[in-house]
Amino acid sequence: MILPGGMLGVLGGGQLGLMFSLAARRMGYRTLVVDPDPDAPAFAVCDRRIVGPYSDPDVLSEVAHACQAVTTEFENVPAASLAFLEKSHVVRPSSRSVATCQDRILEKTFLRDQGFETAPFAVLLDGRLPSPDQLSPLLPGILKSSREGYDGKGQWGIRSHEELSRFLKERTGSYVLEKKLDLVGEFSVVLARGAGGETALYPVAENLHTSGILHVSAVPAGIPGPLSDRMSAVARSIALSLDYKGVLSVEFFLAEGDRLYVNELAPRPHNSGHYTIDACVASQFDQQVRVLAGLPLASTRLLSPCAMGNLLGSLWQDHLPPPLGNLLEHPSAKLYLYGKKNPRPGRKMGHFTVIAESAAEASLKAHTLLAALSPASLSQDLGEERPVP
Ligand code: ADP
Ligand code: MG
Repeated sequence: MILPGGMLGVLGGGQLGLMFSLAARRMGYRTLVVDPDPDAPAFAVCDRRIVGPYSDPDVLSEVAHACQAVTTEFENVPAASLAFLEKSHVVRPSSRSVATCQDRILEKTFLRDQGFETAPFAVLLDGRLPSPDQLSPLLPGILKSSREGYDGKGQWGIRSHEELSRFLKERTGSYVLEKKLDLVGEFSVVLARGAGGETALYPVAENLHTSGILHVSAVPAGIPGPLSDRMSAVARSIALSLDYKGVLSVEFFLAEGDRLYVNELAPRPHNSGHYTIDACVASQFDQQVRVLAGLPLASTRLLSPCAMGNLLGSLWQDHLPPPLGNLLEHPSAKLYLYGKKNPRPGRKMGHFTVIAESAAEASLKAHTLLAALSPASLSQDLGEERPVP
């Protein structure tokens, strides 16, 4: 067990690394953050920073020298770097788990082989076309790059065989082609699994995405108990199959007839789990610290229905944040800004959580607050006519 005062390393200094470092610091741990970007958000709060590539042997030696245990805040850290650190240190999640989750082909094949239902898919290795028999049932489909995709990046809608062959002529790389499902809803389960295999699950979150990016999450999900129990059971058994140690997130698709599909896994805390900071006994970041330090897991109990809204770069004009007055004045909303300097459209700049008597009420408040930040979407939502320019 690593006691408070110990140094915990995290590969990646984005908002997840920032929130991990804050949780660690609150519990008396010190943190070392590695990120190639000198402006990485977590650098503002960590005890020690290393600006450099994750695969640089000198960087990794420095991490090994300074830290007692190491985690990651995103799935695209090279698994080989984690494997290097694993030789001498506790690394949670393991390089093997991260390797599976960072490659859509490995991830989907793992899920299918273990008997978890996924959207029907085909693997396109090195841009090779599937046979027409394989392809037809997958159209219209979504082509997803096997590596490095996130927040809807690295995905393309494909309607026909011709479209796919045209696309592949212009590119290299490996892909997964997935059938586009008619979704009734999207959900996620975040769980923590400790060194001894003990598991703690957070309640199912209900997620609304726009353009492939999470927009609003509400908890608890407005679905019947048996359905959320099914999601929790699937998430737990995925963690078991991976022999996972750490915080794991499982995204689900729900289609007509209560058909449940596993969409993807994230070997880390999840955007849809940020509400746990404000609405649960222990947050997903507290659990990440606990698993890494070998402490017992804490309670995941939900203290209040809650919703979370993402603040994306498109709300920023000329690098200035949107007018945040409504949000700051709201008595049960909490604002989180990550301190990112470049507000590109679609970039996650911050989020807020809002608690209420029910998830539906919290979700409505989140939507109203988001609409107020973006006047164009407000007039659309209310069906008003746009002013003539
Ligand atoms: P990312 O790594 O970018 O989160 P996902 O595979 O989760 O990639 O896709 C992002 C979003 O795109 C999903 O949350 C969902 O809204 C939509 N999407 C992805 N795959 C499908 C699919 N097969 N059918 C319908 N919608 C999909
Ligand atoms: Mg996703």
